[in-house]
Amino acid sequence: MIIRVSDIPDDGLTFANVGEFVAPYTDRSWRLDGVRLNVARDGDDLVVTGELAATVPLTCGRCVEEFPIAIRVPVDVRYLPRPAVADDAELGADDLDLDFYDNDELNLNVLVETETTLALPMKPLCRSECRGLCAVCGVNRNTTACSCETRAPDPRLAALRDLASRPHH
Ligand SMILES: [Zn+2]
Ligand SMILES: [Zn+2]
Repeated sequence: MIIRVSDIPDDGLTFANVGEFVAPYTDRSWRLDGVRLNVARDGDDLVVTGELAATVPLTCGRCVEEFPIAIRVPVDVRYLPRPAVADDAELGADDLDLDFYDNDELNLNVLVETETTLALPMKPLCRSECRGLCAVCGVNRNTTACSCETRAPDPRLAALRDLASRPHH
């Protein structure tokens, strides 16, 4: 959804209806579940605040199964009009939440996609206790038991393991 900056009223614009965002994500398997965005002008700048909720399929870093992650994404971004001279476009290290808008236009779909992407975990796990793939036979150890030994069995360790796996009373 593209909004025209000069059309934004003094008291800002609020977007709270997911239905207004048609295909916000390039990847159609991503889903925007909720949105509450406020777009306000601050001089020539735009300040967008609020929150997104999205469901995104990710691939587990251990077992390589795809799983959906539901995330809430706080939004607090300032947009500056893009300077005509490229040298002015350098942003400081503490300006991560700064971006630019061009030609009196702000594309909220791009904002939604960018903010969602930034909020995704770098090393996704389908669950914290994911057991991953067997290094020997490659089965998904969450769903399939295998009897592979990943290293030569050490009788002393095996004895300890027996102790540890014995049910406690
Ligand atoms: Zn996993
Ligand atoms: Zn195995």
